Amino acid sequence: MAARFTILASGSAGNSALVECDGERWLIDLGLEPKELDSRLATVDAAWSQIHGVLVTHRHSDHWTPKSLSRCWTSRVPVFCHRDHVPSFRLGCPDFRDLERERLFRPFVGERPIAISENWQCRPFRVRHDGGATFGFRFESSHSAFAYAADLGCWDRGLLERLVDVELLAVEFNHDPDLLRRSRRPPWLIHRILGDEGHLSNAQACELIGEVLKQSGTDRLRQLVLLHISRECNSADLAAATARAALAQFGSIANVFAAEQQTPSPWFVIGESLSDGGVVPPTALVQAMLF
Ligand SMILES: [Zn+2]
Ligand SMILES: [Zn+2]
Repeated sequence: MAARFTILASGSAGNSALVECDGERWLIDLGLEPKELDSRLATVDAAWSQIHGVLVTHRHSDHWTPKSLSRCWTSRVPVFCHRDHVPSFRLGCPDFRDLERERLFRPFVGERPIAISENWQCRPFRVRHDGGATFGFRFESSHSAFAYAADLGCWDRGLLERLVDVELLAVEFNHDPDLLRRSRRPPWLIHRILGDEGHLSNAQACELIGEVLKQSGTDRLRQLVLLHISRECNSADLAAATARAALAQFGSIANVFAAEQQTPSPWFVIGESLSDGGVVPPTALVQAMLF
């Protein structure tokens, strides 16, 4: 019944995460070229040949590449995404039409759950972002849940509902607004990132987490993973310190891990002993360095 989760890459230079439920392995996003993806998979003791399916959040180029999508066709791996992603995928990856013809393109149907394994399902949920239709994912079994939401400009009650009572939450901590405003980025880009369809700041993410904690069972959240941290307008240390301060304010015991662009995270275990009626000690959730 247990699931595991690792971030293979996170940031504007490429995003991909690996989910393992009942031994079945799925990727979230394909923002690395195949060779690099293989190397990251090997680091966490996994391989492309084990991938059962790919879930795509949106069409921005740091979340898929033509070659990685093409490999889904050549190795007959189904791609689950929204219909609005199709024009970009057809344009960038000629093999995508073959994938569609062979019914390996599996469009999201609202928030209808996707069967991930015998005991786990995944519900896509929509978030606000300027990459067209953009999604986060909530993975659920009868005992546990975890969620992934990268690339979102703001949050609302609807999103909050999808993140309540998760054991692990991976969410965007993109930038510090002051660092962003002081950066050498052009005004239009700063405006875009700060907008409701841009990227979530450390402060916005902390507000969201505060609400998640208020509405979740006591100590339900065990692991917070910070995603899509800007290299120029944020740092792992700053994002983690901000997140820890927010957790402390609510008396949360959750661990914090800042996902990196170049190095895969450790595996995070979800639902391991909760299915036995026990409580997972925080130390059991993280097998490597914590920020
Ligand atoms: Zn994006
Ligand atoms: Zn992105």
